[in-house]
Amino acid sequence: MSDLIRLSAAELGERLAAREVTSVEATRAHLDRIAAVDGAVHAFLHVDAERALDTAAEIDRRRHIGEELGPLAGVPIAIKDVLVTKGMPTTSGSRILEGWVPPYDATPVRKVRDAGMVPLGKTNMDEFAMGSSTEHSAYGATHNPWDLDRIPGGSGGGSAASVAAFEAPLALGSDTGGSIRQPAHVTGTVGVKPTYGGVSRYGSIALASSLDQIGPVSRTVLDSALLHDVIAGFDPHDATSIPDPWPSMAEAVRRADVSGLRIGVVKELDSDGFQAGVRQRFHEALELLEQHGAEIVEVSAPNFEYSIAAYYLILPAEASSNLAKFDSVRFGLRVTPEGGGTVEQVMSATREAGFGPEVKRRIILGTYALSAGYYDAYYGSAQKVRTLVQRDFDAAFAKVDVLATPTAPTTAFKLGEKLDDPLAMYLNDVATIPANLAGVPGISVPAGLAPEDGLPVGIQFLAPAREDARLYNVGGALEALLLDRWGGPILAQAPDLSTHELMATEEGVV
Ligand code: GLN
Repeated sequence: MSDLIRLSAAELGERLAAREVTSVEATRAHLDRIAAVDGAVHAFLHVDAERALDTAAEIDRRRHIGEELGPLAGVPIAIKDVLVTKGMPTTSGSRILEGWVPPYDATPVRKVRDAGMVPLGKTNMDEFAMGSSTEHSAYGATHNPWDLDRIPGGSGGGSAASVAAFEAPLALGSDTGGSIRQPAHVTGTVGVKPTYGGVSRYGSIALASSLDQIGPVSRTVLDSALLHDVIAGFDPHDATSIPDPWPSMAEAVRRADVSGLRIGVVKELDSDGFQAGVRQRFHEALELLEQHGAEIVEVSAPNFEYSIAAYYLILPAEASSNLAKFDSVRFGLRVTPEGGGTVEQVMSATREAGFGPEVKRRIILGTYALSAGYYDAYYGSAQKVRTLVQRDFDAAFAKVDVLATPTAPTTAFKLGEKLDDPLAMYLNDVATIPANLAGVPGISVPAGLAPEDGLPVGIQFLAPAREDARLYNVGGALEALLLDRWGGPILAQAPDLSTHELMATEEGVV
């Protein structure tokens, strides 16, 4: 395996700046890695090698003539297929968008390009970001690099797996109920859901507009911070975008110090419902932080237990409305019934063929919850619960600076294990959903491997809205302490997949 793909994005950026390596070399190393392992991992739906190499060559040229470039210039990145990319196919994991090539770049993609980064391609995801395992992708599941028979999390399993498998040093994801943080937890990577409104949603194919956020995926906390600094900021194209400037997240990591930091442990999310090894690593991480000056305080958030119920009314309601635009007229697939049909029949045949079962399930749920006569009972009640969850956060943050929870209840489960049981799938999000309901930021940082199965475990930190820098402070501090404890990053212990290189085919690279 080339050493270049083992570097963090920050390290690679420094080597590029020092002209010890070119972006073309770094990009080629990652493309080679994709060619070698993605047949087995299937993190990518689309790889644009030619354009990536052209972009890299252009950055090298600009560096050569002495242009001032940012810290991530020339660094490759993978992009979740939920973000539209000019001239690059975008499907959101759905058949209904197969073959669609968007005419513009989503704002986070544009910012990544403006920073001189090199998009490698688009990563696999559950269809329209609905799921926790990537198995709901219309293009086949992604496999967890730690164990190819297991799920890489979802919906952003492709982004997390691409980073964990060293196919890309960085990726972009989207998090509506945990789709950045839960995949990070099960793949031993770092994932951040920024404050709602912190990163533009313009050009992100909407799942639930009041919950969606775009954010970074990486192998180190500093790398996520550097990417966060690139993508954050006001965008007039997004009506919910926060106009104020943001402090540097990278600075927060570099100055990380937890002395005097009050960390609240959410009592309700520290229960027997969580796998023993997940809780063990969670508590060890807290002890370590406490030894280094943090104060650990128990807090209660009694309404968090209703979060999943509220989320699975609010999300389908918003999704059913957002997905109405896939009508066979404007985008992608069009299926005409045999012998022709009315507009309505064409729409119906297209949506029947183009949407998978989970998407249909949520459209039906959402339409029902919004229908006259049920609106107040379901959607209205869910919105009230949302307010109660927000109040739980307010009460907790009056006492502590950040909250801590295990990121998800279990380590990576087997592919197929929960596919036929939607409720079991939904329960994965018990610890991540409250943050989306309240709009607060969250990070998942690797906390070790569960002793019982040797699979990665994440710890989640949550901060008040606009206080994303606190997450980078505590996440960066914990990462440094754990590096000392284990003598290296946990991803160094992941299988290097070289045994799979022989079975790798072009199959996953379309
Ligand atoms: N797993 C959650 C869901 O299925 C979260 C999805 C997401 O964050 N996009 O809705």
